[in-house]
Amino acid sequence: PSALREVLVQIPDVNWDDVGGLDDAKQELKEAIEWPLKNPEKFKEFGINPPKGVLLTGVPGTGKTLLAKAVANESDANFISVKGPELLSKWVGDSEKGIREVFRKARQTAPTVIFFDEIDAIASTRGYSAGDSGVTQRVVNQLLTEMDGMEELHDISVIAATNRKDIIDPALLRPGRFDRHVEVGLPDEESRESIFKVHTKNMPLSDDVDIHTLAKEAEGFVGADIEAVCREAVMLTLRKNLEANIVHMSEFEEAMKKVKPTKDSELVSYN
Ligand code: ATP
Repeated sequence: PSALREVLVQIPDVNWDDVGGLDDAKQELKEAIEWPLKNPEKFKEFGINPPKGVLLTGVPGTGKTLLAKAVANESDANFISVKGPELLSKWVGDSEKGIREVFRKARQTAPTVIFFDEIDAIASTRGYSAGDSGVTQRVVNQLLTEMDGMEELHDISVIAATNRKDIIDPALLRPGRFDRHVEVGLPDEESRESIFKVHTKNMPLSDDVDIHTLAKEAEGFVGADIEAVCREAVMLTLRKNLEANIVHMSEFEEAMKKVKPTKDSELVSYN
């Protein structure tokens, strides 16, 4: 295959500490993926099969990709990330082959976590994103075949993410497939505070920076928004004075006004 079509295997460098909040989602992924990958014999001993696939749902920027990377890293597993739309464009007319390649590479490099981002693009009931529902059906069938074939091996885990669970082909959600669903919701105030802490961890902050207040004010902001606020606060600081060596609360407040929360812009269109 050409380099363009190569399935890339990554070793993610993020861990649980890089994911702010989302405690329930972390716990679910630990149980469904980290435990089976790290202690397959335990599951055998007790005679149960670990879950095969986990579906993460939630609006963009809430940390789904981050969670998938973290659980791969914490499980000492390799990571293969595939975006639904990319699979269609890279393997035009032959997207099933793309799926086969992904699983082949995963078996080769196991233990491996496969992450299908924007799975709705290849596995929606309407097939509208693919433009051709025949393609969608073939891709879904291939994915199901591969997942059925995972029976005995516990060294591959599959995670999929979508913000359109409503249009996912129900065949994918049946037992033995993506039968664990984890909602990655908008972060609450406490989670927002944790996310601010993650993104200011290595930032020299003035004593007046009050993370608690920022978290309170950041209602409707997702993780990606909070990261943008922190980055913008630094940029504002440097724009005012390139010699600055500390970020003040006022720059955070200003940055908060510039970065519009995802909730206001995107969420409404889903309701
Ligand atoms: P998409 O649906 O667009 O793929 P996503 O839910 O996968 O979105 P991520 O790509 O994981 O979101 O998040 C984008 C970036 O936002 C992350 O790389 C991270 O820097 C930041 N981020 C999001 N959520 C969190 C979080 N809970 N804790 C810390 N950082 C976060």
